[in-house]
Amino acid sequence: MSIATTNQTPPLEPYNLFTTDPVLDDAVTREGDKGDRDHLSAFGERVGSEEVFTWGHEANRHSPVLETHDRFGNRLDAISYHPSYHSLMEISVSNGLHCLRYERSPGDGGYVTRNALMYLMAQVEVGHGCPISMTSSVLAALRTQPDLAAVWEPRIISRKYDPRPINTADKAGSLLGMGLTEKQGGSDVRANTSVARPVAAGGPGAEYRLTGHKWFASAPMSDAFLMLAQTPLGVSCFLVPRILPDDSSNPLMFHRLKDKLGNHSNASAELEFENAVGWMVGEEGRGVRTIIEMVNGTRVDCTIWAASLMRQAVAQAGWHVAHREAFGAKLIDKPLMQNVLADLEIETEAATLLMMRLSGAYDRAPNDPAEAAFARIATPVAKYWVTKRSTPVVREALECVGGDAYVEASIMPRLYREVPLNSIWEGAGNVIALDVLRAMRKSPASTAAFLDEVELATGADPALDRELSLLRRQLGGMEPDEVEARRLLERMVTTWAASLLVMHGDTAVADAYVNSRLGGDWGAQFGTLPAHAAVRAFARRAIPHR
Ligand SMILES: Cc1cc2nc3c(=O)[nH]c(=O)nc-3n(C[C@H](O)[C@H](O)[C@H](O)COP(=O)(O)OP(=O)(O)OC[C@H]3O[C@@H](n4cnc5c(N)ncnc54)[C@H](O)[C@@H]3O)c2cc1C
Repeated sequence: MSIATTNQTPPLEPYNLFTTDPVLDDAVTREGDKGDRDHLSAFGERVGSEEVFTWGHEANRHSPVLETHDRFGNRLDAISYHPSYHSLMEISVSNGLHCLRYERSPGDGGYVTRNALMYLMAQVEVGHGCPISMTSSVLAALRTQPDLAAVWEPRIISRKYDPRPINTADKAGSLLGMGLTEKQGGSDVRANTSVARPVAAGGPGAEYRLTGHKWFASAPMSDAFLMLAQTPLGVSCFLVPRILPDDSSNPLMFHRLKDKLGNHSNASAELEFENAVGWMVGEEGRGVRTIIEMVNGTRVDCTIWAASLMRQAVAQAGWHVAHREAFGAKLIDKPLMQNVLADLEIETEAATLLMMRLSGAYDRAPNDPAEAAFARIATPVAKYWVTKRSTPVVREALECVGGDAYVEASIMPRLYREVPLNSIWEGAGNVIALDVLRAMRKSPASTAAFLDEVELATGADPALDRELSLLRRQLGGMEPDEVEARRLLERMVTTWAASLLVMHGDTAVADAYVNSRLGGDWGAQFGTLPAHAAVRAFARRAIPHR
């Protein structure tokens, strides 16, 4: 005899992640839709299928394995991945998540669509996004060395996923990674001890031999890495392939894969190299300046991933409380649950608007100096805030689902383990806050562009107007003390998010955001919106209606 199961929530999947997300849909249209909504809709349907959700689960259950040697003792340095990981990579590569931004001219919406696709994909599985992100970002740095870019660009701009560990000249498509972090220094890459010696005269584009180590080298199966190493003029940037043009292996030794809190589908290796072959990218001694173009792209992706994890967690929470009954009614009809869900939804919608506005700025920046200046400061501002807000949002959403969210068959533990990473890599919170101060100091145009942006909402709401004038005074005054950088950043980003919501968001959501986040009518936890906020109405915005 089996006891009947009642009052259990059905699985959310399959559902179309794009057509059930009107906030994303509107933002894509606003920021530069060039006829991609059909693609986004088909992609949202595909990644929201049971099959792809299952791949996400399996790729994380069966983490990659490092094989250092073959059975005869020869070095292999190979990583084997579960087939589900390859299926996920195949979808992302064939849809251009690693190259779409370069397939079109700036301002043609390629980067906007690509980021919306990434936002959809990462909801289902984010770990494989690491190599996709690094590849999508690398050309911005590699193009500073046109001779190398000419060789590698066609390999990168290919929608064919080819994981074979062979000479990239013989492959249908290539993926690239990056190696900055060493044991003795992560944020402070000037402390790098890896060295590069020229084979001949040296200089930009010339061949070097690299010796040293990298403490975190994610996606170690990449076809090549951009790496930092010391030369007589300082830290320089190098392109280091895994397989050399003569088909031999570059001596890159992977000692161990990290046993990580989350991000289990993605391999992150400890790497050592002695006399590895590399070619200098950009000017000698300007390696940080060169690679920062790549890092900016991956910082944007950290912001997207954080917003994406929030969206999926809140969608799961909304779906659950719409189905689950307790104490005689659906949880979604309980006033206190409505407050929690509404509060989570506000934060998530704000994050989505921030990351899509940033995407639009990047798309237009190459042809638009004002957007380029705005993107300079908006990148660390958005990265800092969205990646930090995402952790408490996912935790609270997990609690909405209750005990079932604490078991591994649910996607919630995976979202929860994944979410803190985005605020660590590509610059942890303090480093990002200091970058905002640096932008203010070195690029006053970026501060001016930021103010122009937030002031577009002037006159829409008295509480927002008050914050705008405080912000104007603060940004126009003396350079803020380091110790207050986070306080300033919070004012910048909440004012920016409020201005976006007021201009483009749902009126009730915008009012609640302004009154709680700017007006101080809010508690320390989610679910503390004042009783007069229209929580009943917009709590339901969290439910993806299939
Ligand atoms: C899963 C994973 C994958 C990774 N993959 C890669 C990869 O592929 N390639 C790569 O190069 N790196 C990779 N990293 C490394 C990552 O980018 C670094 O961990 C990150 O940049 C922080 O550096 P760190 O760990 O050395 O910390 P530290 O630099 O030691 O910083 C520790 C703390 O001090 C703070 N801090 C630093 N400087 C200051 C300051 N001046 N004032 C105040 N506070 C400060 C930081 O904000 C941080 O909170 C990966 C990390 C993880 C976890």
